[in-house]
Amino acid sequence: MAFHCPGCGEQHSCTVGEGSGRPRWGWNGDLDRPTLTPSVLVTYNGPDAGKLDEDGFRAPPAICHSFVIDGQIRFLTDSTHALAGQTVDLPEISA
Ligand SMILES: [Zn+2]
Repeated sequence: MAFHCPGCGEQHSCTVGEGSGRPRWGWNGDLDRPTLTPSVLVTYNGPDAGKLDEDGFRAPPAICHSFVIDGQIRFLTDSTHALAGQTVDLPEISA
């Protein structure tokens, strides 16, 4: 299944069910109120990723860390986007 994440603006694809070779999530099978386990942790290139700061270090990639529970996304506080620590309704997902 996949959904467009309102936190980081990226598409998150979670491989669920039987399969081989790729990370898989447990899914409750409900498209309207999905629950995924474990959490979804994604690093992506945020606005500062790869840029050198004044000390010569490259900025780390941005982080989007969330739990999908009962049709809602709970963003954990280690996310780097504006919705960190908040819970929002999950947008429509595609299976
Ligand atoms: Zn995200």
